Amino acid sequence: MLTHAKRLLKRVLYGRRYDHVPWPQQLYLRPGERQIRRLRGAWRDRGAPTVSLADFRAATPLGEIEEFISCPLCSESRQQLLYQPRNRRRNWTYRVVRCPGCGFLYRNPNIRPEHLGDLYATGYSSFLTGRYARHRQRRYRVVMDALSPIFDDGRGRRLLDFGCGAALFLELAEQRGFEAYGVDLSPDSLEQARKRLSSARVFHGSPDEAEEIAAGGFHVITMWSVMAHLPRPHDDLSMLRRLLADDGVLVIFTVNAGSLHLPAQGNGWFGFTRNHLMFYSRDTLPTLLADTGFAGVGFAPFYGAKVVAVDRALTPRQLGRLKRRVDSTDFGSMLVAVGFATETAAERWGAQLPDVRRLAIMPPRCAEPGPGRPAGHGAGAGARSPRTGPTRPTPPGRARPDPAR
Ligand SMILES: [Zn+2]
Repeated sequence: MLTHAKRLLKRVLYGRRYDHVPWPQQLYLRPGERQIRRLRGAWRDRGAPTVSLADFRAATPLGEIEEFISCPLCSESRQQLLYQPRNRRRNWTYRVVRCPGCGFLYRNPNIRPEHLGDLYATGYSSFLTGRYARHRQRRYRVVMDALSPIFDDGRGRRLLDFGCGAALFLELAEQRGFEAYGVDLSPDSLEQARKRLSSARVFHGSPDEAEEIAAGGFHVITMWSVMAHLPRPHDDLSMLRRLLADDGVLVIFTVNAGSLHLPAQGNGWFGFTRNHLMFYSRDTLPTLLADTGFAGVGFAPFYGAKVVAVDRALTPRQLGRLKRRVDSTDFGSMLVAVGFATETAAERWGAQLPDVRRLAIMPPRCAEPGPGRPAGHGAGAGARSPRTGPTRPTPPGRARPDPAR
């Protein structure tokens, strides 16, 4: 009944003007909608009570492969319960909390890292074929173009795809001339990957376990839809930082927790999938990159692969308006980020990006990072040495005027 009334109201307000526009983009184009969504998000953040970890623990059931954690970014132990996504058909549900200290969104209880492999052991690659594969590759191309010149010419450059799946991206990296490698946790996916590739090589497990990869010196490391799956992001990003060459970059593509789509969709947000654990935004990702030794971070807006790549998905006027609004609000439904290993890397590869920030690098947290997981991890993130507060990124060295103005 309510849905019907809403539909009717939209018809009266907007007519059929936006019917052909994909839903993720309608949000930006329909007048007044962004403002309403933003207010709703702020209202939800403010309204949720802040509770201690002890109280949260007492009120929340704990699954067999789960553990309670403090904020993975700033170690704050208090939390606000904001979302509880569920899928009745597939029978899963979890809780997503917000850190009142730094605003980070994460699943709590989280998955114990030693059980992460269980989630990807079988069947994870079955949908990576046919039409879905073509959509994926279109999306990769759109992001690669947005990050030009990073992916323009791979000749003489080493690339690692962390969480390469069935190698849909590695196939494109090969075509652009990169000396390409991949790692993944799913044996099924790797089998498909080997059939697809001609020169690139893929390995099962952690990058430390393959000699060709552990040697490091990578010019580009990519993480396509991987960040949200990592229960120990500090360990993984520190390790990847060590594998980068001096002018190397880490390219991260993940769901954008700072996007208007989250307050718009609430528990039904497309970012809340079964295996997602942590949800980053332009506000929170810089803290993690600074903590793991990156000298800078850059962001590119994501307008949606279809509307960018397919002619006449939107009228030229609508596309122009969409771009201006995405640029001035949230940078889109997906987060497109580049971590720069050094200042040199930031200067060389970040010049085209509209939002680039220098980071104050924090001293490493683990004395002996070495291969594999550092000892003492079972204690959870709360056991880490406390910090005075989240790292604030330094203001952009060359901020550009807001393109929406
Ligand atoms: Zn925090």
